[in-house]
Amino acid sequence: MIWVTYAQAKRDEGSRQTYLDQFLKIQPHPHVRSLRYNLGFQAGLDRIAELEGERLICAQAAADARAEVTRADNYAFLVLARGMLGHGKKQPIIVNPPAFEQLSEEGLETYLIDHEYVHAQDISRGMALSAGMRIDSANEGQFQICALHAILETRALAYQISEGVKKHVGHDTLRRALGEFWKYHCLLSGIEPANELEGTAIGIQLASYRPLLDFIFPEMTRKKRRKN
Ligand SMILES: [Zn+2]
Repeated sequence: MIWVTYAQAKRDEGSRQTYLDQFLKIQPHPHVRSLRYNLGFQAGLDRIAELEGERLICAQAAADARAEVTRADNYAFLVLARGMLGHGKKQPIIVNPPAFEQLSEEGLETYLIDHEYVHAQDISRGMALSAGMRIDSANEGQFQICALHAILETRALAYQISEGVKKHVGHDTLRRALGEFWKYHCLLSGIEPANELEGTAIGIQLASYRPLLDFIFPEMTRKKRRKN
């Protein structure tokens, strides 16, 4: 087996798939099927074609997803369509070039293990919120896409931040995750619930982030409480 180091993968785009295959062997996860390098957008397009073949997405959703995937400038992503939550299927994670070009080795590792793996698990198992509430294919139809998206992202980012603090990851890596968490937290707080279930789920989810927010912004949350 050829061993590819992070430095080689960063330098040579052609070796990035081998690097990711090695990565998953060393850091396996029960809900992650593969890490695919998105060379020329092919891995993303292949995944959409696969979901279309399994009739998990309709032609319109596939066309929208294709437009999105070929614009991809994020580090990595999973393709999620209506009805996929909680089906128990392992998920492929598609890794974009900026993950190698902009992140450090540590940044890439924590981004994959502590963020993308969380998405894979949430999609495969469905999302277990606190208070015994679950979001899966049985009830996800009652959720707006923006709500599902904000819940998925805040969950992954909250985990990424708490693991990052435990592992003492670098300042830049943590700061990026904090900024993103705050962005999606604001989005989630601003959603007008479409129904009671969605309102309850958003409330439960936001409440679960209070200890983390107290930790991140102790002064701000203290002042807010004094005002209330
Ligand atoms: Zn994410």
